[in-house]
Amino acid sequence: MEHMWTREIFWNVGADKKIIVYCLALIALGVFSYGIYRRYFLWRKVSLNKGRISFDVLGKRVRSLIIDGLFQRRLLREYYPGLMHAFILWGFIILLLGTITIAVQEDLTIPVMGISFLKGQFYLFYKFILNIAGLLALAGILMALVRRYVLRPDRLSRSAEQGVILMWILMILVTGFIVEGLRIYSLKNSWEVWSIGGWIVSQVLTRLSAHNGSALAAHEVVWWVHLIIALGFLAYIPFSRLIHLITSSANIFINAPTSQAVLSPILNFDTSDSFGVSTVKDFTPRQIFDFDACTQCGRCQDNCPAYISEKPLSPKKVIEELKARWLEAGKLMKGGKTVEGNGSLLEEDVIWACTLCMACAESCPVYISSFEKIMELRRNLVLMKSTFFPEIATFFRDVETFGDTFGRGRAYREDWAIGIDVKRISDGEHTDILFWVGCQGTFHDRNNRVAGSLAELFRAAGADFGILGKEEYCCGDPMRRVGNEYLFQKAARRNIELLGRLNFKRIVTYCPHCFNTLKNEYPQFGARFEVLHYTELLRDLIRGGNLKIAKDMQKSIAYHDPCYLARANGIHGMPREILRAIPGVRLVEPGHSRRETFCCGAGGGHMWMREIPGKKINEVRLEEMMNAQPAIITTSCPYCLIMFEDGVKSLGLEGTQCLDVGEVIRDAL
Ligand code: SF4
Ligand code: SF4
Repeated sequence: MEHMWTREIFWNVGADKKIIVYCLALIALGVFSYGIYRRYFLWRKVSLNKGRISFDVLGKRVRSLIIDGLFQRRLLREYYPGLMHAFILWGFIILLLGTITIAVQEDLTIPVMGISFLKGQFYLFYKFILNIAGLLALAGILMALVRRYVLRPDRLSRSAEQGVILMWILMILVTGFIVEGLRIYSLKNSWEVWSIGGWIVSQVLTRLSAHNGSALAAHEVVWWVHLIIALGFLAYIPFSRLIHLITSSANIFINAPTSQAVLSPILNFDTSDSFGVSTVKDFTPRQIFDFDACTQCGRCQDNCPAYISEKPLSPKKVIEELKARWLEAGKLMKGGKTVEGNGSLLEEDVIWACTLCMACAESCPVYISSFEKIMELRRNLVLMKSTFFPEIATFFRDVETFGDTFGRGRAYREDWAIGIDVKRISDGEHTDILFWVGCQGTFHDRNNRVAGSLAELFRAAGADFGILGKEEYCCGDPMRRVGNEYLFQKAARRNIELLGRLNFKRIVTYCPHCFNTLKNEYPQFGARFEVLHYTELLRDLIRGGNLKIAKDMQKSIAYHDPCYLARANGIHGMPREILRAIPGVRLVEPGHSRRETFCCGAGGGHMWMREIPGKKINEVRLEEMMNAQPAIITTSCPYCLIMFEDGVKSLGLEGTQCLDVGEVIRDAL
């Protein structure tokens, strides 16, 4: 009979206890709200930098919240921890919705409209879904316990709190099933088999021939225990690392539209007397919020080339240390004290070990960028304290004096093009393509051969292109990423002014760093140019039939994705498409690839810096690539090419060729 398929909500406890339940719930909610208020004080008040959290591009924020928050896209990139987390999250969301549904019936539809809807087939379906959710959550918790106490991956922080939380959730789930099992056992309704978790418990009790009176007494006790530990859990959330249940989702919403490829500009050189971050108070509220959103999952650490190559940097520890400083500062402020004595936030070796490859931000499930914080500390070291390696000082002087990172000067800027038929773009004359050669393509003995190959390809395709020649100047990217925002902006404004005078349709760059800077960072200073990386142009020329590939090349090729092309700008399909256009080429994938690529070791100014203690990043990457057994290692970045050529020599891999994609295509014409 359908009307029997329901249950009395306060069965065996008494409807008169409802008032006690609601009082307890109110207390838990009150404690929860107080905890959130305390946290809000810390989020907002510690920062002296009153930069506002932006809420523009709402659609993108909501989409990311659904995809990465609700459906856990980034977390599910890793099978075991991804499913584990998703089971717990989805399980609890459904259980929460189930509890809200009961409250709606009991306190709204029954008293106001006299309607009870948790009955009949809908009730059976409702119970089935809730039980499946509970079992999923239980499976997730058990997986978490196995991972934490049996598998023990290096990246997990060890703290008693985490064990307590897991056991607490386990108790909520287990007591929930026991309560249900005791009720089913006492009522003996065969249709309650739909409450699968509770039904299993009831069958165990049947086997044990439990006394009915004892079952009723036990039901009442466990019912209260379940309620109290569930409400206690709610109250505990803001006072523990469980706060990430709220902050992580909020952080996805806040940070999703932020491009990792673009560093924030310093806009107040004339008026400010402090740049970058020296104490935790200098971080913006958004950056501070990042600290609280961190779940300590360690994915950033697992993907950090500095950490993997045993350098003194872990992006996870960076966030943990900064969070500790922030909480310490908050305590001082609450006690009416100042936070001036906050000391140095991170060791200098940690600050300089970062290659700014963005792998940490790409792998973080809640959109935290550790390198952004490191960058602010670097800026402070460079701009306020002039604390950097002597070779960096030479590099700054070279760029400022000669306009290039090699310290050669404009008189030599056209030497690479001697013997190559390339026109110089001058005022007034229209050119379709401005070929931005970059300092590496211009001055480096190896990379200027690549620049020559690219010019040959453009000419073979009949493209109308020209170069700036002596007028070209460093794009500024290396200075910006080493922390010298002042020199970067000087270079950027100079170049924007020059480019604004010329008559061209689009800029095509050789170097992904120049590409990213001209395309994504120059707009911060008013520039609006169409900028392509050369792989985009070559793809169009090959597709359009302007470049005809004639030769067969029976070779296996591993393509290395440069960070500033693949990760920062999503360009990873085109280089592969170009290489596949060569008959006989067999592309092999070298472990980390596409957006999850692995730094070559030259980024973030490391091209000019001494090696920070640890393994060499280029060798670590090269060894990984060699596992795919390629005959040729190819890339589309001058920095990567040099790093790999160095690595091939130091690892004794002389039989392996390192070529730029442009060179491979030129050889195939
Ligand atoms: S940017 Fe790269 S090197 Fe720097 S912390 Fe992130 S992953 Fe590590
Ligand atoms: S910063 Fe992100 S990836 Fe790193 S431990 Fe925290 S949540 Fe995980």
